[in-house]
Amino acid sequence: RAYTELERSGFLSSTVGRGTFVRAQPAAVALPVGRAPVSSAERAPIPWSSMISERARTEGFARVARVQRIARVGRGELVNLTKMEPGPDLLPDELFRRCLEHVMRTTGTRALGYAPHEGVPRLRERIAADLVRQGVPARADDVLVTSGSQQGLDVVARALVDPGDVVISQAATYTGAIQIFGANGARLMGVPADAEGPDMAWLRHAGRAKALYLMPNSCNPTGECISGPRREALIAWARETGTAVIEDDFVADLELDGAAPPPAMRALDGDVIYLSTFSKKLIPALRIGFLLCPPSLAPQLVALKHATDLGTSGLLQHALAEFLERGYLAAHLNRIRGQYRERRDALCVALKKYLPPSVRFRAPTRGTTMWIELPDDLDPEAVFEEARRRGVLVSPGTLYRVDRAVGGPSGLRLVFGGESPARLVEGAKRLGAAMDAVSVG
Ligand code: PMP
Repeated sequence: RAYTELERSGFLSSTVGRGTFVRAQPAAVALPVGRAPVSSAERAPIPWSSMISERARTEGFARVARVQRIARVGRGELVNLTKMEPGPDLLPDELFRRCLEHVMRTTGTRALGYAPHEGVPRLRERIAADLVRQGVPARADDVLVTSGSQQGLDVVARALVDPGDVVISQAATYTGAIQIFGANGARLMGVPADAEGPDMAWLRHAGRAKALYLMPNSCNPTGECISGPRREALIAWARETGTAVIEDDFVADLELDGAAPPPAMRALDGDVIYLSTFSKKLIPALRIGFLLCPPSLAPQLVALKHATDLGTSGLLQHALAEFLERGYLAAHLNRIRGQYRERRDALCVALKKYLPPSVRFRAPTRGTTMWIELPDDLDPEAVFEEARRRGVLVSPGTLYRVDRAVGGPSGLRLVFGGESPARLVEGAKRLGAAMDAVSVG
């Protein structure tokens, strides 16, 4: 058997007259060299730019392309405070490898086919139990597994939005949501906020919208949290006006100081569409998120999800279910919460030390984003450019602005989850120097 396996994996080399040997490396497979496709000089070029659909031309895509460009230059020496994912040292690679191997050994080919449309039952069960632990009522049958919560947002948008429909979001909101709603033809409007959350008077004046998209536990980018009473008022407004509420709980389980957030909006009203993800608290590469929706919406969402990708990887769903069944999540969360707390605190101390006193920020109680409010004399774009020149990458608040005419909070988003405390301190120092240079200039 060993011989066959060595042969199959290319480790054997035989020479007539000398014998058969085991190589140190498997034989290199020569890759065929690709030929350039037929050049456009040989036929009339297709006018692609005029053929792009209106939906794909939404301005949100240009913004996201810019975010990607920023992230690409962020490799290497730059302190990168833009990446919304756990740093490599915070990924549970060894524990996950064990789960994946166990699934391959015990579940075998059952895990290698297409998965059920709604998701693998053992995973849906675990997710429901986890939600109940967090105070969100759920049964396994209510849970729809999606390929990241990004796909959840996409299917919800496609199920609800007709071109021209109004979708209201926080005034500075998640770029991926701007992109998805925009690509589905929605007219996005940003609701102003006070210390408790979205301004109710503004909403009452605006009246009915197709949907209200919110991140109540920590808004990406501002870190704002919506108070308990304001959540209830928002639910009442949505019921009165017939507006769908979409609750994006991407920071679920990422409390840094032990204080639980107010009850989820989904816990207050079973008509709320609730989305969450394993990308932030576990492993982004799983591409596993999930959603809860009103029962009457489920068939549409399942059909749209299935039409998009024919299912989320069954292999990874089984491996994730194994991870959760073994109880690995609790210990992992303890570890990363402690690390995030340490990073947040190190960044706060350094920001206090190095940023001009006119710049305000608040330490977040959950998640990994810090919002820096800038005074009028500091333009976020200018600070971003100067900071990049000085070796630290931050995200200018303009990226998240829903309505460019109305504006929104002026600031910078810093993500502290992916860099060590020492690098965060260095990042704060470089950012402070950039602000000094910009305000003097
Ligand atoms: N919602 C928010 C607020 C996010 O920041 C992200 C990712 N950055 C997502 C949803 C989507 O994440 P994923 O598709 O990895 O679950």
